[in-house]
Amino acid sequence: MSESLSKKGNRLAIVVPCYNEEEMLEKTISVLLGVLRDLSGKGLVSEDSFLLFVNDDSKDKTCEILKEKAEKEPHVCMISLSRNRGHQNALMAGLSTACGISDMTVSIDADLQDDVLVIGNMVEEYLKGADIVYGVRSGRKTDSFFKRTTAQGYYRFLNSLGVKTVYNHADFRLMSRRAVAELLRYREKNLYIRGLIPELGFKTAEVRYERKAREAGESKYPLSKMAALALNGITSQSTKPLRIISFIGLMVMLICIVAAVYALISYFTGNVEAGWTSLILSIWFIGGVQLLCLGVIGEYIGKVYSEVKDRPLYCIEEKILKGAGVSDV
Ligand code: UDP
Ligand code: MG
Repeated sequence: MSESLSKKGNRLAIVVPCYNEEEMLEKTISVLLGVLRDLSGKGLVSEDSFLLFVNDDSKDKTCEILKEKAEKEPHVCMISLSRNRGHQNALMAGLSTACGISDMTVSIDADLQDDVLVIGNMVEEYLKGADIVYGVRSGRKTDSFFKRTTAQGYYRFLNSLGVKTVYNHADFRLMSRRAVAELLRYREKNLYIRGLIPELGFKTAEVRYERKAREAGESKYPLSKMAALALNGITSQSTKPLRIISFIGLMVMLICIVAAVYALISYFTGNVEAGWTSLILSIWFIGGVQLLCLGVIGEYIGKVYSEVKDRPLYCIEEKILKGAGVSDV
């Protein structure tokens, strides 16, 4: 490693949000500890690098397993949230805890779907000067047809709204300490972290990998949570839907003017078409458009409401940071 590269701090924290992951945890901990050993053996990360698990108020034995490991194993730390706040908030809790005690963080899911072997490549990119290194899936073969098509359609939709996103990147990424510190300055409550990261700027890099299927347990992202995240992605990054509503309103008005002219001509030429079906259908149609538009506006007003209240994203109930050489608080 060149002189200038080795001067860069290289204490790594791998941040892992966990919700009901008892079936995966033992394996995840041992695989990630193996990654740390390997990387510190190669001199890429310092020997005091560590794993930081965030228990998102799991209902199974996740918390017990994490506590036991964090008490006994060096390099294993955990924090526990006071109630389930969802993946994005749990990740923020982990990043904010790791920020002061590491030089870089890698965020990864507990189910090992993301390829841990590319963490080494991420660290190399960091040492070469990148502040943010995106893990990008080279394909979506392991996703179901439904998830694959909806995800691709969603990314395209976000793009058309002008939202910058990295295609096929979720939350598997490396961030330098200063990038995390800047991210933490974003005070928003309706989080869509992968939409915020490109906002930060900084030098970025990408590493590609094949995403595997979940080895054990079920997805902790049911359709409702996925839809909420997708909605946050749109409403927290773009106000274009509001403009689209104005456009729809204008279009409907124009159609009405054309229909009125047509009705007048029919009246004067004596060809008045009777029938309430067309009347009722158009009333229902306009009613539907109005309700939809009100719903979209309401969605933004709801978001403004929760942002204005400025409530904390999470509450940390317990911290065991011995594994990082920090005394417990
Ligand atoms: N997760 C979390 N809180 C939640 C839901 C999920 O911390 O309320 C964690 C979960 O344990 C996993 C990550 O978020 O580490 C991603 O979840 P999952 O792998 O189930 O999502 P998928 O890969 O199916 O999108
Ligand atoms: Mg997963």
